[in-house]
Amino acid sequence: MKPIIGITCGSEKNSVGAGYIRAVEHADGIPIVLPVIGKHEAMCRYLDLIDGLLLSGGVDIAPLRFGEEPHPKLGNVDERRDAIELFLTKEALKRNMPIFAICRGIQTLNVAAGGTLYQDISQHTQSTIQHRQNADRWHGSHTISIKSDSSLFRIIGKRSVVVNSYHHQAVKETAKGFIVSARSKDQLIEAIESSEHDFVLGVQFHPELMWERNSDAFALFETFVEACKGISD
Ligand code: MN
Repeated sequence: MKPIIGITCGSEKNSVGAGYIRAVEHADGIPIVLPVIGKHEAMCRYLDLIDGLLLSGGVDIAPLRFGEEPHPKLGNVDERRDAIELFLTKEALKRNMPIFAICRGIQTLNVAAGGTLYQDISQHTQSTIQHRQNADRWHGSHTISIKSDSSLFRIIGKRSVVVNSYHHQAVKETAKGFIVSARSKDQLIEAIESSEHDFVLGVQFHPELMWERNSDAFALFETFVEACKGISD
């Protein structure tokens, strides 16, 4: 059976970019958008329904969620979304449900598992690379180096690829039980994965905007959906 993939979204419109939906569909999954509702009981029912959780991109996470006061360069936050996504992510981790986390998603994943974030990349003093590109959305603008002993390497099969980049935050301290699977040349974390779960991967770039032109980006969706099949069978 094709697995059902729950995709998170922001509370204002309860919608996600079409790229997430189409990428999941083309990778042979059945996408559904999980609206931001307040009841944990309902969220648990959603988790019963889905076979995999896709944490999508969006605004910043409120820094009190990881024990910090707001930095002057913090962007917009969405408190209702934080509450629901962090709850969903913690529950999905408990259930060993496959999780694929994109951009804000990698940050949600890391905070849910106990890690911290740079609220703005300017807090990372070595940063010398443009991480908010002024180029087409599918364009790979900077290089990432992939750790050879990682799921990300097993999926992509290359030590170095170019990715798009639209972030001003990044993972700071990686959550316990996670490894860094890719970094940019200025040493920012661009991908993390759990070493304690079957498939829990976060990327800082946006494969949902690249997959139609880039087989590496599509392979991430294919592998994620394949991992979710194990649950639905
Ligand atoms: Mn980047």
